[in-house]
Amino acid sequence: MPERRYRTDLDCYDPHAEHHPVPTYPWKGAPEHLFTRRQLRDAGLCPGGQPAVAQCLRPRKRRPTEPLRAWLYDGHRAREKRTPTPAQLRAVDAMNRAHRICDTCRRDVGYRIPATAPLHGECLDCHEIRNQLRAA
Ligand SMILES: [Zn+2]
Repeated sequence: MPERRYRTDLDCYDPHAEHHPVPTYPWKGAPEHLFTRRQLRDAGLCPGGQPAVAQCLRPRKRRPTEPLRAWLYDGHRAREKRTPTPAQLRAVDAMNRAHRICDTCRRDVGYRIPATAPLHGECLDCHEIRNQLRAA
């Protein structure tokens, strides 16, 4: 089966899902009750657990087999966005703080230290010292 190519808005129009797993519309051509996750968020809403019910596709000149895709959600089934409780915010703060503390000198260095190579949980200063010791 040849790969489907998307060159015009018409190639992206499949409202009855005959060629796609979900109804498909060209960019900015979706029915008014369908929204992207970002559009819902900007309205203080979230999809509320529903799966995407449709998609928008937009052709890309250089890659006609890989159009840009936006999943769409039914605005009627959207829910108010949850706001984190103070306890949740404290937990996130604590987690972020833990990632800023150097395993070696125990300072809060003010940036997130990757646990993986090359720093392995060490701040840049400690990492530098270790490298100099290794070179000496
Ligand atoms: Zn350190």
